[in-house]
Amino acid sequence: MTSSNRNIIEKCDVCGGDNPEPSIDKFIFQCRFCGFEKNKIQAGHTDNSNLIFTDDVNAYFKDKYSQLKKDETFELIVPVSRFYKTPQPQAGQVNFSKSKNIMFLLEQHGFQFVSRKSRFSTQLNLLVRKL
Ligand SMILES: [Zn+2]
Repeated sequence: MTSSNRNIIEKCDVCGGDNPEPSIDKFIFQCRFCGFEKNKIQAGHTDNSNLIFTDDVNAYFKDKYSQLKKDETFELIVPVSRFYKTPQPQAGQVNFSKSKNIMFLLEQHGFQFVSRKSRFSTQLNLLVRKL
């Protein structure tokens, strides 16, 4: 095959869905399946210490998993957009999640949320346990 003009198909970091259509805003990847958004031009942190700044949300949870023992818990506080409100982006923010994106990622990486505060807030505050 010679050179082609095929677009690079972007895959969603959360659900793996591909988005062949260019996003409305080309700097923001927006998943048409799960609603996860990622700023494509913002350089992410590679230490994976903060979910909204990490270059790779899956690496964030993999690191957490390797740092904790079974049944150990950690507090996960992350801004999430709700249908009625989107939190103000933070400077340098890479990843923009909905609460269902976080629940999905937790499940995928072997975690379970134990409790949550402020159910309707745009600040998700979860106590998470490694299974
Ligand atoms: Zn997705």
